[in-house]
Amino acid sequence: MFVAAPLPSSSSGQVESSALAWVTRLTGARERRELAQLLLDGVLSWPAVERAELDEQSELPANAVVPDHGSCQCWEMRSEFGEQSLLRVWSPPDCSDTLDFVGHLVRAYQHVLRLLDGAERDPMTGLFNRKSFDETFWRLSMNCLERPHAADSETGVPGQPERRHQDSPPGYWLGVLDVDHFKRVNDEHGHLIGDEVLILLARLMRQVFRRQDRFYRFGGEEFVVLLPSTDAAIADALFQRLRRTVETHDFPQVGRITVSLGYTQICSKDSPAGAFDRADQAVYLAKKSGRNRVVCFDIEPALRSASVLPPAGDIELF
Ligand code: GH3
Ligand code: MG
Ligand code: MG
Repeated sequence: MFVAAPLPSSSSGQVESSALAWVTRLTGARERRELAQLLLDGVLSWPAVERAELDEQSELPANAVVPDHGSCQCWEMRSEFGEQSLLRVWSPPDCSDTLDFVGHLVRAYQHVLRLLDGAERDPMTGLFNRKSFDETFWRLSMNCLERPHAADSETGVPGQPERRHQDSPPGYWLGVLDVDHFKRVNDEHGHLIGDEVLILLARLMRQVFRRQDRFYRFGGEEFVVLLPSTDAAIADALFQRLRRTVETHDFPQVGRITVSLGYTQICSKDSPAGAFDRADQAVYLAKKSGRNRVVCFDIEPALRSASVLPPAGDIELF
């Protein structure tokens, strides 16, 4: 019996979606424990693997030896981020008990995911909700304050620290995105089409951001992004890329829409509400200066001087 599943994430922290990374003979208790562990770690953190890449045609790793007799059974899996993937198990004809075992495990984890979903997700877009943002914010903050440079073994799973390159110190940016003139979309095309635009927007966000980024629907046509990065240029480039991706996307029936984005670097004295408020002020400025823009709170003199943010030298990243 052989099992293949997508790798939770590569050692570099980057998604390697073409990899079917875990292949083993499920012969004994040790392998079963390994599979249980894989599901425990993996189902909650599998990367965005395109279903097409895991269909019957996909290639196995070179070192995989798959029996040419017997059957292949697939279970549809869903990652923490709502992405679909497949768990494939090849089995010789006499292994039905192990197949049953895998089936039970998969069902158990699907129940766990469903429970998590109910509490933490926005049902329409599948993104995390505001409650989940507050909890993640405080947890990241506490983790990083306690262990300011110990983020090397991060995994990207809420509840666990996230995987990161060893030489990059921790730091986070918070971005707020607001759809421009969204009321017009509803007025001109109806609420259902408006909903569809929000669902497609969430999909575009999944495409633009990296595995370790987290994004949330805060309510209405407002979204929040948490970017782990210390580099202001990278943060700016990602927010600009999202703005451009939306600007150039053809939304069915609606055509083109734009978004305004504001962002700020999170400091150790921040609360979720405080950091959100700064990014929101930057959104306000983006709207005032014409919409379809990205504004960084921290480099806008007008915003900084009016805020209670500590002086630049005092900012400690968490
Ligand atoms: P601005 O560029 O200033 O942001 O203009 P706007 O029209 O986007 O802003 P405004 O706050 O006036 O309107 C937001 C609209 O979003 C109003 C509300 O009906 C709509 N909206 C909020 N939640 C949802 C939702 O879940 N689905 C749909 N279809 N519309 C929603
Ligand atoms: Mg709004
Ligand atoms: Mg709006």
